[in-house]
Amino acid sequence: MPISCPYCRSTNVSNILDDASSTGDSLENTVFSPSVLAGLGASIAKSFNVNPFIGVVTGTVAGMAYNFMSNDLKDDGTSHYYCRNCQQSF
Ligand SMILES: [Zn+2]
Repeated sequence: MPISCPYCRSTNVSNILDDASSTGDSLENTVFSPSVLAGLGASIAKSFNVNPFIGVVTGTVAGMAYNFMSNDLKDDGTSHYYCRNCQQSF
């Protein structure tokens, strides 16, 4: 039974895992890495006149939480297909 897109009912879908998903994942992990968010948190804390250390801690925790959640999402078997017709993933 072919997989059809839930958005446009097209059967022109591909498995994301078979395509270039690994490069997208690594980019995402770079952008949301704890160290990047720690720096971001420090900048935000400075602009709000809060101790930058609080921003670093908040950013690090947020980054770790994001990575934890994204790993969780990868494991639950959803959003593994990409529709070539309407460019949605599901
Ligand atoms: Zn579609």
